[in-house]
This record gives sequence, structure tokens and C-alpha cells, in this order.
Amino acid sequence: MKIRRIAIHRKTLPLKEPYRLSGGRLRFERLDSTFVRLDTDDGLTGWGEGCPWGHTYLPAHGGGIRAAAKLLAPALLGMDPRRLDQVNRVMDITLPGHEYAKSPFDIACWDVFGQSAGLPIADLLGGGDARPTPIASSIPTGTPAQMLAHIRQYRSRGYRLHSAKIGADAEVDIERIRRLEAERDEGEVMIYDVNRAWLPAQAVRVMNAVRALPVIIEQPCESLAQCAAVRARTLQPISIDERLETLPDMQRIIAERIGEIVNIKINRCGGLTKSRRIRDAALSAGIQMLAMETGGSVIADTAAQHFAQSIPAENRLGTWLCQEMLSVDTAPGRGSRNTGGHSAIAPELPGLGVAPDADLLGAAVAVYE
Ligand code: MG
Repeated sequence: MKIRRIAIHRKTLPLKEPYRLSGGRLRFERLDSTFVRLDTDDGLTGWGEGCPWGHTYLPAHGGGIRAAAKLLAPALLGMDPRRLDQVNRVMDITLPGHEYAKSPFDIACWDVFGQSAGLPIADLLGGGDARPTPIASSIPTGTPAQMLAHIRQYRSRGYRLHSAKIGADAEVDIERIRRLEAERDEGEVMIYDVNRAWLPAQAVRVMNAVRALPVIIEQPCESLAQCAAVRARTLQPISIDERLETLPDMQRIIAERIGEIVNIKINRCGGLTKSRRIRDAALSAGIQMLAMETGGSVIADTAAQHFAQSIPAENRLGTWLCQEMLSVDTAPGRGSRNTGGHSAIAPELPGLGVAPDADLLGAAVAVYE
């Protein structure tokens, strides 16, 4: 089997409402998503979606994927898409780094691989564990009253896991955490996601001020070294998100005991092949995982659900569905959805199990053959 043709589509995904995080310093109204369609010489078609969360959140942007495609797509033509490690080696030699740009190509190859094998991607990744995956809400930075209103909305749709975006003046964050914790329902899990906004001194101040509360703190500071310094002087579980990009990052998190949880975002980590390696390292160290995309529509979410289901439920803290925040749907009624609020099951179909609606995507912006 050979890759015969690669088409690149671009789609703007408007958010239902403007969104702020990292103490409010980052604001988002729409996402720039790129869809990769891969056709093989024996008639299979695979899809992948790559959608960095805007261009200010990570060193990644939608235009970067489409620029990288000019180099990656010609290098992949003629390759067997089922040989995922080979595919990734060729991408790494063609364009070192730029992991986020490789992810939609990797996912499209997994889609074809699954279709050719007659198995869902979750099974190819080691076997889907069908126990439900909690979906995390995504609560934008705001006043405690505004954040509680968002939590109640999500709660009414069944959400029991919340990711509340904080990160500001230490005293403001202490107040936010206390107010939100006072309203926490029995059995709910709260992640306070700082998105790198604290300096170590602020992190130590806030986390110790609320040390009696059973909260998880995500990506408190900018670098792994700063997070390690915070880890040594605090008690709550720390989740590493933005600074986990590669397997060596994961190895460092384990070796230096920087976090008890990691948030594996498929796009940021370069696709399913590389996320799988990070997953296995995390499993070996007893680390819990959140598994999700950096952003995107149901195509990206569905790939993330296949991956999430490949993590044993004991280690799987939750996932996230970006689609719930969008005012467009690229595959209405299909793919992984919010089912009853706290679980999203990947389609039990060969491959990814969902393709975008061609009319909604529009014409390709580039074709390689
Ligand atoms: Mg996060």
C-alpha cells in the first residue's frame, strides 16, 4: 500500500464565546484548523486534524502546519502509511522538531492503518478499555461568580471533572480556589490550570495557602525546572501540560519527580505514534494521564478518544472535547461525543471511524500527488 495523494484543507472554527486563560492574558475567539486527507493506491482514505489552540498558547500555529505540509507531504508520497514508525522517522528527518505540524499526518496514517486492518485505532494502540473516560470542562478565567456559573452549566450536562483556568495575583487565586472549592459537589474533581502564569514564589504561596484542599494544580509555572522547584515545596498533585512535548520531557518528569499527572495533548506531542511512547513511559512510572487534543473539531477529538481508551482506566484521569466549545461541527452526528456528560467512546469502526463533511470543509488549499 502506498500514499498516492495528500490534500490539505483549512477550516476556521469559531468559539461559541470568547475564551480567556493564563490569568486572562491570552484571549481566543476562533481556532485555525488544518485537515489532512490521505489517499492510498488501493482506494483507502484517511483523515487527520491539527489545531493548535490559537497562535499565542504554544509555539504552534495553523499556518505552521500548512507550511510544514509543503515539506512533509512530498516526503510521504509513496510510503506505506501502515508503517507508522517509518513514517515518523521520515517526517523527523525531513523536518526536525515542529511536532505539532506532523500530528495530522500521523493520525491520517493511523486511520488508513485501522481501515486496512478492520480495527479501531484504539485497538491498534493496544486495546480499547471501554470503561468511561471523564470529560473535563474548560472554565475560562474570570471572577469566582463567573467561573461558578460556567461550572454549573457544565454540571447540568453531567460533567464531574473541571479544569478551571486561573493564574494571576496570588491572593486573587487563593480566593478563587477557596470560593470554587466551597461549591464543589460530592465526587467532583477539580483541576486548577495555571497555564504557566505563576512564578515559583506565587505557586508556593497559593498552593500552601490551600494545602488542606484536595485540588490538582496544572502547569503552575513556565518551565519544567520551575515546576520542579514548586514540587519540592508543595503537597498537591501537579499535572504537567504545556511543557510535555517529547519522550525526553516525560523521562525528565519521571526522573526528577516533577509531576504525578501529565496531560498528553496529541497535537503538541506530534501525533498518536509519539504520544503512545509517552503513554508507556508514564504507565511505567505510575503516572496518571489526561489525554486530549490541543483543540479542533470532532475529528481531532475522536483521535484523542481512541488514544485515551488505550490508557488503563486506573491511569486515565480524563479527557476534553473541544467540539463542545465550537459553533461549527465538521461531522454532524458522527465521531466521539459527550455521552451523558462524563464519557466519550471512540467509534467501534475501522480506523478513526469518522471523516469530515466534505461540503463543510470546502476545497483543498493544497494537493500533493
Ligand atoms: Mg492545561
